[in-house]
Amino acid sequence: MNINKINTSTDCDVILIGAGIMSATLGVILKELNPELRIDIYERLDRLAGESSDVWNNAGTGHSALCELNYTPLEEDGTVDISKAIKIIESFEISKQFWAYLVGHGYFCSPQDFINQVPHMSFVEGQEDVEYLRKRFETLQKCHLFEGMEFSNDFEKIKSWIPLMMKDRNPEEPIAATRTPHGTDLNFGTLTRNLCTHLKDKYEVDVFLNHEVETLEQQNDSTWKLRVEDKTTGKERYVTSQFVFIGAGGGSLQLLEKSDIPEAEGFGGFPVSGQWLVCNNEEVIAQHGTKVYGKAKVGTPPMSVPHLDSRIINGKKELLFGPFAGFSTKFLKEGSYLDLPASISFDNILPMLNVGIHNLPLTKYLIQQVMLSMEEKVDVLREFIPTAKHEDWELAIAGQRVQVIRKDKEEGGVLEFGTEVVTAKDGTIAALLGASPGASTSVVVMLEVMEECFPELMQSTEWKEKLGEMIPSYGKSLKDDKELTKRVRDFTFGVFWA
Ligand SMILES: Cc1cc2nc3c(=O)[nH]c(=O)nc-3n(C[C@H](O)[C@H](O)[C@H](O)COP(=O)(O)OP(=O)(O)OC[C@H]3O[C@@H](n4cnc5c(N)ncnc54)[C@H](O)[C@@H]3O)c2cc1C
Repeated sequence: MNINKINTSTDCDVILIGAGIMSATLGVILKELNPELRIDIYERLDRLAGESSDVWNNAGTGHSALCELNYTPLEEDGTVDISKAIKIIESFEISKQFWAYLVGHGYFCSPQDFINQVPHMSFVEGQEDVEYLRKRFETLQKCHLFEGMEFSNDFEKIKSWIPLMMKDRNPEEPIAATRTPHGTDLNFGTLTRNLCTHLKDKYEVDVFLNHEVETLEQQNDSTWKLRVEDKTTGKERYVTSQFVFIGAGGGSLQLLEKSDIPEAEGFGGFPVSGQWLVCNNEEVIAQHGTKVYGKAKVGTPPMSVPHLDSRIINGKKELLFGPFAGFSTKFLKEGSYLDLPASISFDNILPMLNVGIHNLPLTKYLIQQVMLSMEEKVDVLREFIPTAKHEDWELAIAGQRVQVIRKDKEEGGVLEFGTEVVTAKDGTIAALLGASPGASTSVVVMLEVMEECFPELMQSTEWKEKLGEMIPSYGKSLKDDKELTKRVRDFTFGVFWA
């Protein structure tokens, strides 16, 4: 569709449902491209970024595949496949360029409020995994995007990187680690609030908090009519728009189903809740300054990868371990226990049943995780910090992930661990389903939404030039251009940390 053609018969041109990182990112990109667009944001909570984008609800990893071993699987022929890792690091470089553009223009106050340098490490034990990590490192070294990564299987060297994790460890045990100094820790909550504040202050975008979108219906002229409840007064009203983005996180699936677009058929959702162990001992927190990702146990899902994260949250150093998975039928942390049963319909019951039948290891894993006591969780933590003491750690509830279930001709239904953009054929509505790699790739995912919905505008010289100004590597391949990679990295580093 051509969003640039202002339709004065609708209340707005764009409605963004949900005030998380995705809607906020799309809103800012669109306004930077066309300041005339009339954009409204509706958020059911009384605050911005209150669900998955909140700083305590996610791990804050700037996912660049520097440490996440699930992005570099070992193939049957013994090679390590790094194609997904390359895609993810390129996506994150695009996000960084966009945020640096906004910081550089003075739209956000201090970049350290949302982005900080924290080294990223992978850590493995046992000869087989040591060999895998070495091979992974050697393969990644062939691509300049992973420059700066170091590998070691030397006890003393690794101890100098992560002393807290090496206390009371047997020096005879085979271990290995990789370390990249320029990894990042993100506060996606602050970033989302910065983006929304920028939309309100510079562009006078209305952000309606405590407003829940209940239904959405396409009109004969292709525009959309939404019923919205003001949760403070209980009053309902209708708003119309040319384009709607469903950026409701876990709430997206139900809204997509209500849109009745054929493209929504067959999708289902499987909620997985999460928990962290949060360190409350300042002395312990001070001893660790790295994000360390381990290896998921065989047969467990990608979101089960254990990691020990040194984080900077609201200017203070913190230490988190997890996530531990849990099961809840809610699709949002502040949602309803009826979310899962209410999402089951004639269209998706078969894919959902098939996924249940074919994913018994996942069910087993979730049951095991739910049954873990606090002491058992600390035992899992001791695989990272052998000297961990129960009294130094508290349990905190993380965000809710809704994994996508998709109709599949062969299997009946498949469970996806990534994100899925669903758009109507006419480009008037788009929704984002799924959770991973998430916020780090928000800019690329929103550009994908725009390419699907506004293909002609995305090809126009005006938009291309502006996108190139915001994201210098836009439309170019970083993996094929070492010089360009250096240039954009120097630029983002200079803006964030010089
Ligand atoms: C445990 C965990 C760890 C993670 N770790 C990382 C990480 O390390 N790095 C990373 O990049 N990503 C990570 N992610 C993923 C990342 O948090 C998400 O991808 C991202 O925050 C999703 O943003 P969003 O805007 O789509 O959704 P959200 O932030 O969930 O925002 C959706 C908003 O929509 C609102 N809403 C819902 N329904 C309605 C309605 N009907 N009307 C109005 N408003 C509505 C909600 O209240 C919410 O505010 C993690 C996620 C989890 C759960």
